[in-house]
Amino acid sequence: TDTAATPAEPSGAAAATSTTTSTAIEIHGLHKSFGDLEVLRGIDFTIAPGEVVCVIGPSGSGKSTLLRCANLLEQPSAGRVVVGGTDITDPDVDIDRVRRRIGMVFQQFNLFPHLSVLENLTIAQRRVLRRGKAESVHAARENLARVGLADKESSYPSQLSGGQQQRVAIARALSMNPELMLFDEPTSALDPELVGDVLSVMRGLADEGMTMMVVTHEMGFAREVADRVVFMDGGVIVEEGTPDEVLGNPQHQRTRSFLARIL
Ligand code: ADP
Ligand code: MG
Repeated sequence: TDTAATPAEPSGAAAATSTTTSTAIEIHGLHKSFGDLEVLRGIDFTIAPGEVVCVIGPSGSGKSTLLRCANLLEQPSAGRVVVGGTDITDPDVDIDRVRRRIGMVFQQFNLFPHLSVLENLTIAQRRVLRRGKAESVHAARENLARVGLADKESSYPSQLSGGQQQRVAIARALSMNPELMLFDEPTSALDPELVGDVLSVMRGLADEGMTMMVVTHEMGFAREVADRVVFMDGGVIVEEGTPDEVLGNPQHQRTRSFLARIL
């Protein structure tokens, strides 16, 4: 069988621990321009392993661009991104190898409509991680149970609610065993009554110690789950701190007026 014959190729987890580091991700002097438009104007911050950071800020402030630069879906114009001790902006780094260490969940769920839930969860494991069928199905089932959808593996995305589809997308990302999960407004496309189920799955992940960076307008979630809140405006971090500090006692006028508009 393939398991017995597989040579000792390092797994994602083993490769990740081969460099000891006390940061999950470091962003240094990050700039990003699209043509003449400078969207990120010097971003510096670090997330520790197990930390949950919520990023808030007005539309157009660069939150999605920051997440997309964090896993090199966008190429930064300047600056460095270090993930688990590896400088992923180093041109010599194999970006596909790095990207598998980072799970990403989008506002639009991006499931494959013609594949069942189970197939949606196994396809990347098989193609990208080269896992065998039994192993990928096992990981898929484990993660579907984790998001409360063990009974939906044979369903197709169109048969599920938006909240269920988003939970499938989270389970799919988790099946790749990421070190770090990035969420870009994961509940913004959902009907209000479906938001709670997705947030409680995310809260469960946070409780299990997953490192998470979450762009969200859900201030209740940020207040209760985040270790740190980062407020962005105009492509810079205006202020950051604990939820109590940033949401409860904001120091900057721009933060205060943003919070006054959304709360
Ligand atoms: P946010 O997520 O905070 O709403 P974004 O990061 O999506 O902000 O966008 C910040 C700015 O960058 C916006 O002005 C947006 O129009 C612009 N932008 C984002 N992506 C691109 C792109 N691929 N090409 C050109 N402009 C872009
Ligand atoms: Mg956005």
